[in-house]
Amino acid sequence: MSDFSVRFWGTRGSMPVSGECFRTFGGNTICIEVAIGEQVFIIDCGSGAVALGRNLLAEGRRSTWLLLTHIHLDHVIGLAGFAPLHSADFTLGIRAPRRSDISLHQSLRLLFEEPLSPIGFASLPARLDAVSFETGRDIVLGDIVIRTVALRHGAATAGYRFDHGGRAFVVLTDHEHAGDAPDPDLVRFCRDADLIAYDAMWCADSDYPAHRDWGHSTWQAGLALIKEAGAGRLACIHHAPTADDALLRSREARLQALAPDSVFARDGDVFTL
Ligand SMILES: [Zn+2]
Ligand SMILES: [Zn+2]
Repeated sequence: MSDFSVRFWGTRGSMPVSGECFRTFGGNTICIEVAIGEQVFIIDCGSGAVALGRNLLAEGRRSTWLLLTHIHLDHVIGLAGFAPLHSADFTLGIRAPRRSDISLHQSLRLLFEEPLSPIGFASLPARLDAVSFETGRDIVLGDIVIRTVALRHGAATAGYRFDHGGRAFVVLTDHEHAGDAPDPDLVRFCRDADLIAYDAMWCADSDYPAHRDWGHSTWQAGLALIKEAGAGRLACIHHAPTADDALLRSREARLQALAPDSVFARDGDVFTL
């Protein structure tokens, strides 16, 4: 029985959506739970983190790690509704790539201060341990070493790789590929990984050309990357808020014709590595 699993609490990009036409894939923005043994790591705190937070408290957890890929609103909007922050005996360790223009503390405080929020950062009951890191350096949390890589998406965005028991999970969002060939640095980073969650907001032969340089990639570029890296399955994430179930299903069918085990991830999907 594996003790390494990945659960997608939010797979949407840019902003949460709801409605009948989003029912299958879900409308919550990025939030991924990585469980390794007894340790839980959260990647990004999009709106999917609201349900995750309730679940962590129901499990009786008193601490966890949050690894932010970057500070864009769709990746942190769930912090305001993350129940553990309102629990005095909860410790949240936050790690995020370092920016030159604003500190991690200042960024987080902005989210919880007037005029954006009535809560007040200083009045949050939970204990916070927020530290930024230089992208490309390894992070050691507990007895887990997490590798990081710089992504092409504005300032300071990091991809993460978790290795455990000979298995590996990689998350690369938000990111735009450069040119037609996979980036050699990312190929090395993804080498032999079992599951790669990848920013596939667009499709190369439909909506990507109109959104070039917006900082997001395509399922075709993700597929080329995992093939070059000898990696296992692709889990496409960061679905556009305009992409309804019918569109995502049709893209998934095209992907699976080329890579049967790969998917467009749905909110609630669990993968055991
Ligand atoms: Zn995003
Ligand atoms: Zn972003």
